[in-house]
Amino acid sequence: LAAGESGGVASYHPVLDQQSLRRLQLGTELAQAMADGQIGVVFQPVIDAQTSDIVSVETLVRWTHPRFGSIPPEDVIGLAEQIGRIGAVTDHVLDLALARCRRWLDQGISLSVAVNVSAFSLSEPDLVDRIRGALERHGVPGELLILELTESSVVDDSVRESSVLDDLHDLGLRLSMDDFGTGYSSLSQLRQLPIDELKIDKSFVLTMATSQGESFIARSIIELAHNLGLCVVAEGVEDEMTRNQLIAMGCDKLQGFLISRPLPEDRLEKWLLARTG
Ligand code: C2E
Ligand code: CA
Ligand code: CA
Ligand code: CA
Repeated sequence: LAAGESGGVASYHPVLDQQSLRRLQLGTELAQAMADGQIGVVFQPVIDAQTSDIVSVETLVRWTHPRFGSIPPEDVIGLAEQIGRIGAVTDHVLDLALARCRRWLDQGISLSVAVNVSAFSLSEPDLVDRIRGALERHGVPGELLILELTESSVVDDSVRESSVLDDLHDLGLRLSMDDFGTGYSSLSQLRQLPIDELKIDKSFVLTMATSQGESFIARSIIELAHNLGLCVVAEGVEDEMTRNQLIAMGCDKLQGFLISRPLPEDRLEKWLLARTG
């Protein structure tokens, strides 16, 4: 019997439902799944809005489970956080991203890679050392790495009081504020933080072609970013009308299904070849 949530009244729901069972099982399998290559990454291109040149790729985690099929990335990250293994997942994704980046460099392609860092990982005391170590191990210059941090994690008090963002910046890498517009950062925080880029959350971008309100928010974020000397990326660009609006608003970079879906490495290389001729 589990204790009820409200007022200590006993309730008789099963202690482990189907979902919790699955989560428990996945948790025990996580480390082995990384070692076995079940947990991999895909890359989604980001292009320059004006020239359409590819400027970077965002690395997105994928777990293809032999029995459960593909597990949504939010579940993979949430699970890893719950069982205290998010650091290992962050390192795994970083490792795969930097290994690819190094191989592109060897082929004469200088392409930046972006990696998502969850709020949990951002507060791990050894994060900076691990990222420095990974860059050295792969022989990738810090300038080619972008870390995407969510707006809410960056304005967290403990993060702002620590030197983690400055230390990361000192490695030469770029910091991008992800899902911008969904958190609560203030103008003065934005001015003080060592960030280089804002990513307009896709909830605004997906609806801006049909909603004046969202379109106005996108325009305001672009203006705000430029006034602060930051670069601005729109994610979730799915149609031509949205792309044209964003270009007219002066958005710097575009990402979304219109440009390309996230691609496995071999398909990304074909995509690159087809575009550069
Ligand atoms: P995110 O960082 O905001 O990543 C962008 C998500 O939007 C990706 O979903 C991408 O596939 C999707 N997307 C891109 N373009 C479009 C579009 O035009 N339309 C629509 N509807 N969606 C688009 P994905 O791969 O399912 O990842 C979901 C979230 O999971 C990510 O959101 C990120 O928060 C998290 N995530 C993924 N990989 C990692 C990782 O390696 N580490 C961490 N910490 N989080 C990750
Ligand atoms: Ca992201
Ligand atoms: Ca995002
Ligand atoms: Ca998101």
